[in-house]
Amino acid sequence: GELVVSFGEMLIDFVPTLAGVSLAEAPAFVKAPGGAPANVAIAVARLGGKAAFAGKLGDDEFGRMLAAILRENGVDDSAVVFDAGARTALAFVTLRADGEREFMFYRNPSADMLLTADELNVDLLKRAAVFHYGSISLIAEPCRSAHLRAMEVAKEAGALLSYDPNLREALWPSREEARSKILSIWDQADIVKVSEVELEFLTGINLVEDDVVMKLWRPTFKLLLVTLGDQGCKYYTTDFRGSVPSYKVEQVDTTGAGDAFVGSLLKKIVQDPSSLQDQKKLEEAIKFANACGAITATKKGAIPSLPTETEVLRLMENA
Ligand code: ATP
Repeated sequence: GELVVSFGEMLIDFVPTLAGVSLAEAPAFVKAPGGAPANVAIAVARLGGKAAFAGKLGDDEFGRMLAAILRENGVDDSAVVFDAGARTALAFVTLRADGEREFMFYRNPSADMLLTADELNVDLLKRAAVFHYGSISLIAEPCRSAHLRAMEVAKEAGALLSYDPNLREALWPSREEARSKILSIWDQADIVKVSEVELEFLTGINLVEDDVVMKLWRPTFKLLLVTLGDQGCKYYTTDFRGSVPSYKVEQVDTTGAGDAFVGSLLKKIVQDPSSLQDQKKLEEAIKFANACGAITATKKGAIPSLPTETEVLRLMENA
């Protein structure tokens, strides 16, 4: 009963071999497997937890490569399906000199957008202790309906629902559409994690203060988190709230830090669900998750940077 099932997109990021150049100026790109929900599943497995990824890939070399990466990392891929008529999604990603990430997506439509409710592995969903998802799978049909159905199946079977909206504005027809669709499934979640940018996007207020965060709180939530990069994170439950600083590291590339944070926290929660009611246990789990995010920020790429338990404990002990 400790399975984390992560649902959504897995894709290949093409990242310039040189830092600080625009996509147009990049001389060459390297393949970096990614997609936040896939990263989360691998983060759980890297730490020795049980994880599965559910989603659709193109029946092409890239799609088969990604499924192999899941398996090599110990992630159950029995809920991965392949589309014979569409390609695996690609994204060209660059870190500009001003530190902002620039994305260019190839989804016209890509295989992940074509997952249907009929293609869901219902048996696997019913075994989930936690069902985790983002918002990219909400953008277009038929995947949107598959996503909503998967949430229903998992929740009915007793899973906790975990939501990291992972806003990618460029993928939505408009900011308004992004906001309303992201919030359309807000109330169903048990655990929600947002970044500072998402907090501002969803509330319209550029201040990380409790009364702003509480605009996103719902009475049915068990845990709401706001991640703050090198500042760690703030957490909110019905009975207590607080903030937990992160660890001091040399930041190289934050890609995947949020996914490492979420994956490690979910792994701790499925191992000991009472962490959600016990402030001391919750803070311990969040410290561990901060360390996971911090380590991920010290290395290039997402999946190669996700830490093992040994690495995390080493950082925590030396702090
Ligand atoms: P992503 O960059 O993957 O989209 P995000 O914006 O969702 O990430 P961040 O707030 O950047 O999430 O990072 C998640 C967590 O990782 C933070 O709450 C923090 O604990 C840890 N972390 C990230 N960057 C650093 C850093 N430079 N130093 C220490 N901890 C960090």
